[in-house]
Amino acid sequence: MVTRRWMLSVAAGLALLMTAAPAPAQDKLKVLATFSILGDFVKNVGGDRIEVATLVGPNSDAHVYAPAPADAKKVADAKVVIVNGLGYEGWMSRLVKASGSKAPVVVASKGVKERKAPGGHGHGGADPHAWQSVANAKVYVANIRDALIAADPAGKAAYEANAAAYLGKLDALDADVKAAVAAIPADRRKIISTHDAFGYFQQAYGVEFIAPQGVSTEAEPSARDVARIITQVKKQKIPAVFLENIADPRLMERIAHESGARIGGKLYSDALTDEKGDAPTYLDMMRHNIKQISTALMS
Ligand SMILES: [Zn+2]
Repeated sequence: MVTRRWMLSVAAGLALLMTAAPAPAQDKLKVLATFSILGDFVKNVGGDRIEVATLVGPNSDAHVYAPAPADAKKVADAKVVIVNGLGYEGWMSRLVKASGSKAPVVVASKGVKERKAPGGHGHGGADPHAWQSVANAKVYVANIRDALIAADPAGKAAYEANAAAYLGKLDALDADVKAAVAAIPADRRKIISTHDAFGYFQQAYGVEFIAPQGVSTEAEPSARDVARIITQVKKQKIPAVFLENIADPRLMERIAHESGARIGGKLYSDALTDEKGDAPTYLDMMRHNIKQISTALMS
């Protein structure tokens, strides 16, 4: 009897140990995110219960992404697929179909207030860059949390705790961005960026962005668009133009040269950097961008 009781308590102890320890790699929930910023949100919510793969990597442009054969396998392996939506990943539905995946495809931007692309061109007229407002990033995180709980109910408490901790960091970030903008004189809150990726940032924080290229990088800006921007920079005395990590710097260098505006540095719009760069996480990206903007507009 003693032996049997001892055996039972050992078994119970082992079971307890197994639930408390991080899941071995093969038991982790495999989650696929379409691009680096989304992948970072997923990592923060999933913690060590999940394994995240991304399709469009650091410093890469998701607007014009061409999936590789290996991407179909990544999709097929995933138990949950997370996409931005708002017409951002036009190539994704074909890839999901080709992969034969039956995994749920979760739209992380579901519930954000959609911004229409100025001029009405682009896919369905939506501006996809909703993550550039931290309030929207919080919506993404809540959607990702709910999707992970649905796919892995045993991890509910962990996903809720991770999401709550990360949402707290986003609240602090949002307050810091607002404080930084408030310190910039109102008549200097104007910037030129390469493509129209900061419309949600503009709506949320009141810095005006003007771009020669639309909400997608698919179409090159016309000579007329570029000329219009140069005239506008001169007329409105816009202090700084910015490069983007996903765009060719030459267009902006030309606009700066011909308008007399300074190059204010590099902004991260659609992709994070690798670990060694200025923006390996979303929090780093937003803090880098607001610091560059403040420095350029206040000097
Ligand atoms: Zn973009």
